[in-house]
Amino acid sequence: MKTISKINALQKILDPLRRNKKIGLVPTMGAFHEGHLSLMRRAKLECDYVVASLFVNPLQFGPQEDFKRYPRDWVADRKSAETAGVDLLWTPSVGEIYPSTDQTFVDVKGVTRRWEGAVRPGHFRGVATVVAKLFQIVRPDQAYFGQKDYQQTRVIQKMIRDLHFNISFRMLPTLRERDGLAMSSRNQRLSPADRKIAPILYQALQRAEECVGQGKREGRAIIARMERMIRSEPRVQIDYIALCDSETLEPIDRLTGKVVLLVAARIGPVRLIDNLLLNIDY
Ligand code: AMP
Repeated sequence: MKTISKINALQKILDPLRRNKKIGLVPTMGAFHEGHLSLMRRAKLECDYVVASLFVNPLQFGPQEDFKRYPRDWVADRKSAETAGVDLLWTPSVGEIYPSTDQTFVDVKGVTRRWEGAVRPGHFRGVATVVAKLFQIVRPDQAYFGQKDYQQTRVIQKMIRDLHFNISFRMLPTLRERDGLAMSSRNQRLSPADRKIAPILYQALQRAEECVGQGKREGRAIIARMERMIRSEPRVQIDYIALCDSETLEPIDRLTGKVVLLVAARIGPVRLIDNLLLNIDY
C-alpha cells in the first residue's frame, strides 16, 4: 500500500490507471474500525484500485465540537487499511484541501434541513464541500459510504446528482458491536458505564421494528415507545427520534413504503447516532 499526502503525487499515480482500471474511493476521518474496513474490503471486491482518504475535516465540526479531540491513530490506521486491501492511503493536509483563499462551498438544501443538519449547523456544508473536493481530486468510478451516517448518504447522493458527478454511489450496511451498538470512532470516548448503556439506541430501533412487524403503522406511537425505552436510562439525553421518508428525510406519521427511523442521543459527553431502514409493503 502506498501512503501519499500531496495532491500532485496522488494524481501522478492515478492518471495512468484511469484508462483501464476501475477506481474506488472510501472517504474517512481515520480511527478505523470494522465499519470503515468493511467499506474498504467491498471496494476492493468491486474495483481494481482502492483509494482511502484519511482527512479529519475541520469544516464539518462546529465550534463546540470535538475536532481537536477526534481520535487519531495513523500508525494503526495504515496497518489496517493495508490489510483491508487499500492500494493507496491518501492523507491530505488541511492546507492543501482548504487554501486560505477558498471562496467556494457546497450547500445541499432540502435533505440537510432537519435532524443532524438542524442540530449541527454547517456540518453538512463541511461534509459536502470536502467530499466534492475529494471527488474532484481522485475522480473515482465508485465511492463508498456507510448507512451508519444515513442523512450524510442522502446529502452525498443528492450532491452527486445535482453536480453531475460521474460516480456510482455505494451505501453499505452499518457494522455493529456484538451487543448491537453501531461501531463508531466516538465509542472509544464512552466511559465503561456509559458503554454498557449505549446499546439502548439499537434496542429501541429493534423494538420499533418489532412493532412494525406486528402491524403497527402509527409513527407517533412507535416513537413514543422508543422514547420510553431510552428514557429508562437517565444518562441518555435524546436529541431526536424520527420516522421519515427514506429519500426526502421529511417526517411521516403513517408508515408505508421506504422509511428510515433515525435516532440521535448524547450519553455524557459523547453524541451517538443510529438508524434503521424499513421497507413496508404489506
Ligand atoms: P468517518 O471516518 O466517521 O467519517 O466514516 C467514514 C465512513 O465510514 C462513512 O461513510 C461512515 O458512514 C462509514 N462508517 C462509520 N461507521 C460505520 C459503521 N459502523 N458501519 C459501516 N460504515 C460505517
